[in-house]
Parts: sequence; structure tokens; C-alpha cells
Amino acid sequence: MRAQPKASHFINGEYVEDTAGKVIECVYPATGEVIAKLHSATPAIIGQALNAARDAQKAWAKLSGTERGRVLRRAADIIRERNRALSELETLDTGKPMQETLYVDATSGADALEYFGGLAGSLTGEHIQLGDDWVYTKRIPLGVCVGIGAWNYPTQIACWKGAPALACGNAMVFKPSETTPLCALKVAEILIEAGAPAGIYNVVQGYGDVGAALVTDPRVDKVSLTGSAPTGRKVYAAAAEGMKHVTMELGGKSPLIIFDDADVENAVGGAMLGNMYSTGQVCSNGTRVFVQKGIKDKFLKRFAERAEQIKLGDPLDEETQMGPMVSKNQRDIVLGFIEKGKSEGATLITGGNAVDGDGYYIQPTAFSDVTDDMTIAREEIFGPVMSVLEFDTEEEVIKRANDTDLGLAAGVFTNDITRAHRVIDQLEAGTCYINTYNDAPVEAPFGGVKMSGVGRENSKEAINHYSQMKTVYVKMGPVDSPY
Ligand code: NAD
Repeated sequence: MRAQPKASHFINGEYVEDTAGKVIECVYPATGEVIAKLHSATPAIIGQALNAARDAQKAWAKLSGTERGRVLRRAADIIRERNRALSELETLDTGKPMQETLYVDATSGADALEYFGGLAGSLTGEHIQLGDDWVYTKRIPLGVCVGIGAWNYPTQIACWKGAPALACGNAMVFKPSETTPLCALKVAEILIEAGAPAGIYNVVQGYGDVGAALVTDPRVDKVSLTGSAPTGRKVYAAAAEGMKHVTMELGGKSPLIIFDDADVENAVGGAMLGNMYSTGQVCSNGTRVFVQKGIKDKFLKRFAERAEQIKLGDPLDEETQMGPMVSKNQRDIVLGFIEKGKSEGATLITGGNAVDGDGYYIQPTAFSDVTDDMTIAREEIFGPVMSVLEFDTEEEVIKRANDTDLGLAAGVFTNDITRAHRVIDQLEAGTCYINTYNDAPVEAPFGGVKMSGVGRENSKEAINHYSQMKTVYVKMGPVDSPY
């Protein structure tokens, strides 16, 4: 098996196995080949990881921020040196093409480690003078953080959660998605190599039951989930039982609004990035593309022309632009949505079929004449399927765009600068774009509103979600007591 790790879990600085756990088969989605077999964590493994994290966290928090940051920045350097090997592993784990993984996966993980490594030394509280008395606040860690990942960006998610957690002096137990278990193990290995103390970043494998066991464990202080909204609802409720801190990065059904005056090539480019990148498996995708009447025909024609040129194929070939879906299951779900689109009366503009062969490929697909009530306009598909909805007026499109429980992202293409800001201002979404789509630099907060989540990843904002304030009141004179 060409990607078999030394063992399933990484705990207290070393690989650990417990073959009593359920088997997790890791399948390369381009061929259907089993590339690794791992085991889900048993209660003993979960306990070992949480104890290791608990034991290591206090001493880690006692280091200065600069010392912690140095470890993270070294890890970022190691990741960049090994970018090719890590990108190949990401490609095997997910099926995403090397053309993507070489530039946005391990590298964005390294960005997070570098950014939060740099911030760690400047985390402070404040001094509040109250006459002669005063208050000082300290920014303190939460303790043991659990990270639970989705399968679309396994290296990035492991770092986006790990880097701010560690920068703030926490320890982490990370559970990758059972569909893509390989990459987080490398992140854990590299952190140790960079000088992180054993136990500070642990990885345990498992299905949803392992995630659920971690969320309810009393040794855990915070839970950060990247996953679907239904899973988020369950995890948030379970975390609330123990009054744990949470970050919820969940799904979306985001609107992308294209006005008549937009540059067509740019708008098509944005819509392609927002629907086809990573074979459409991106949470912030702008899958409801509202196109104003006057530009619709031009937009659809150019979209179809460009979509038909997308090069599907072997993800390890750097010429390939689009890989397969992550799994057979996910491919079948997406094909089901495509059938729904057809049967509910949407017009297929391009694609619409699976590709013959062993891999889980689907053609880049676009529908027009989609109406607000159709299933493909209401539910997250998580595949290369774009829905185009026509609109007339600005007021109408804002109302329709907001008519969803989800609110992760939103985008506007227009050359009218005041309209761009006026529309964005009214869209109910946490992460918005004007004349671009789907950028996610570490310097900018990322996250959703409504059912798309709670909290923010990346940027200085993430620090607030991985630390808390301790307030200390200092009396300088006699205590004025009435008793
Ligand atoms: P999922 O919700 O099925 O699973 C996510 C993770 O949660 C997995 O590791 C899974 O094992 C775990 N899990 C499942 N049930 C659990 C439970 N009861 N308790 C604890 N953990 C549990 O999601 P997925 O199919 O892996 O990923 C796709 C979803 O993730 C999409 O909805 C997508 O939009 C979302 N996503 C969001 C972001 C974001 O940043 N907002 C990023 C990527 C993906």
C-alpha cells in the first residue's frame, strides 16, 4: 500500500497503534485503489491522547509566546521544504490535482503556522487604571482543544486549527475525517521535529463516534469542527453540555451575484473558481449564481466554453486541472443532485454525467433556469455543479440571496463601486468578495453566520477563539467594608 503510515495515531510524540479499532480504508479516488489501512481510535487510544495533551499543556503555556512561536515558524519552514512530498500525499488522500495541492494545501498550512507563530509573542492583556487601584487582564489558554476535520482540505484544516491553538498555549487532539486520514499525521510529525514538546499536538483517527467521544470528554475545553451543518448542530449541542468553547466552520449555499455591468471574463473566472475548484468540494463555494438578465446569455456561453476545456485526469499529472470526487459515496450523492436538477426542470448547460473508469470523476456541470425552490438551489451539493438563477433588480436579488438558513460566503461582480459595497453590506454572510471569489488568506478572518457557524478561523480574530481573559483586580488602599 503506497501511502501506509507507520501507525494510525500520533500521540505524545510518537506513532501508536491499536488494531482493536474499526478498520479505516484510505482509498485513492482517482483509481479506487486502497492506499492505506488504519484503525479507528479505541477508548484506550482516546484516553491516551487526551491525557498526553493534558499533561503537556501546562508547561507549554509557561513558555514565552516567542518561544512557542519559534516552534511554529520552524514547522512552517519544514512544511515548505517538503511541499512536494506533502502535496503528493494530499493528492493521494483527496484526489485533488497536484496543480492545486502544490500551491494551496501544505503551503496554506505553513502560512497559518508562520502567521500565528509570529503573533504568539505579542499576545497580551491590558492594564486598566481605576484611580489608585487597578485591574490587569491576562490572555490565558483554554487548555485542551479538540479539532475535528472535514475531508476537503486535510492538511490546511489540521494547521488552521493547530496553529492558533498552539500559539495561545493550548494542546490539541486532532481527529481528521475518516475519508482523508493521512495528512494530519505528517503535521504532527513535523511539529515534533520543529521542537514541539511531546503531547502538544496529537492525532487520533476515527469515524463520527470518535469525534463524539472527544467532544463530550471532561478533559476537553474547546471543540473546533469543520464539517457539515447537521454535524455542527450535534457537536455544538454536545459541547454545550460541558460549557465548552466552540468554533463551528460549517457548510454553505452561498450566493454569487453578477450584475449586467460586470466584466464577463472576470465573472466567469470567479464563478469557475467558486464552483469547480477542488472539484467543487469547497465550503465557501458560490453555488447559487444569480446573473442579471442582460448578461445571462453571454455569461452562460463563456462559462460552458471554458468549462468544457477543463482538463480532467490523473491528479498526479501536473497538467490535470480537475480530479475526481473524494469518494464513491460523495460522487453518488452529487450525481443524485444532478438528477434532481434535471427532473425538477433546470436546463443543463454543460456536463451532467459521471466519467467512465475506476475513478470517481464527474464532468464540470452547470444548470440554468434554476428557481429558488429547486433542490439544487437549496441544498449544499459539494461537487462541481453550478446553478444559475436569473434576476432583474438589485432589491430582488438581495432578498433572494438571503433566503437561506446558511451564511458562509457571498460575492458580487459589478463595475459600479457604490453598488458593490451597498449590496455586500446587505448580504447575510461572514466572508464576502467583490470582483473575486474564494480567496482565503491567513491574514483575513474566515467563517460564517446563521447555520454556517460560530467563531472565525485565521487572522487575529482566531486568537479570541483559542484564549480567554483572566481579570485581576488590585486594591492599593484599605478595604472599604460596611461590615
Ligand atoms: P461531516 O459533517 O460529515 O464530517 C466532519 C467531521 O465530523 C468528520 O471528521 C466526522 O468524522 C466528524 N463527525 C461526524 N459526526 C460527528 C459527531 N456526532 N460528533 C463529532 N464529530 C463527528 O462533513 P464532511 O462530509 O467531512 O465535510 C463536508 C462538509 O464540511 C461540508 O458541509 C462543507 O461545507 C463543510 N466544510 C466547511 C468548511 C468551513 O470552513 N466552513 C471547510 C470545509 C468543509
